[in-house]
Amino acid sequence: MISYSNQKKFTICLKLVIINRSSLNINLFEFDRVIKSQLYTVFNLPKQNLVLKIETKVLYKYKLSQLYNKLVLCICDSVQHNNPAETHFKGLLICINKLFIQEILSGKNTRTIPHEFGHALGLDHPHARASFNTINEEATTLEKQIPINEFSTNLMSQTWYVQKANININKAINLHQNQIELIKQNLMQQKLNNNYSIKKMLFWYKWVV
Ligand SMILES: [Zn+2]
Repeated sequence: MISYSNQKKFTICLKLVIINRSSLNINLFEFDRVIKSQLYTVFNLPKQNLVLKIETKVLYKYKLSQLYNKLVLCICDSVQHNNPAETHFKGLLICINKLFIQEILSGKNTRTIPHEFGHALGLDHPHARASFNTINEEATTLEKQIPINEFSTNLMSQTWYVQKANININKAINLHQNQIELIKQNLMQQKLNNNYSIKKMLFWYKWVV
């Protein structure tokens, strides 16, 4: 689950299970260490009153009941359109394409993981689909107010957008103040934890995707 506390600082609490459904042999403990560091870099912003807490559980073997209602980071054999990853918007399942694991582990790509968590936290792309320098009309009002000249270094722009602007993708990890505000609102208004990836049947559990 994704939860929060709001005492001294606004704190995002991620309870995350890491699993590997792909055919690759991956050191999940190493993966755990790497992704935590990438997520802290982007979302732990105490000066902006945002703090990140992550509790992870690495499971090499699991029962689906152990994943039910949990935030799950899952390495998969394939992702739609061969994208690096896909996330249920505001949801609990983040799938990472196995073909991109090596560049995530090596630090060549430190952006995909935080970008996907941005979606899980309810952030949309600030720019319109397949369109450069255009606002995403489907995004929230807060997101539509982000200045277009900040899109190319923003965490939530798509990779092609950053590359088209000639920016190193690992440098495009900024969050605009409005996006921080939106994450807080999504948490406080309980808009997250949707689209459960595991369905509970009468006597068993099954993957929805
Ligand atoms: Zn995206």
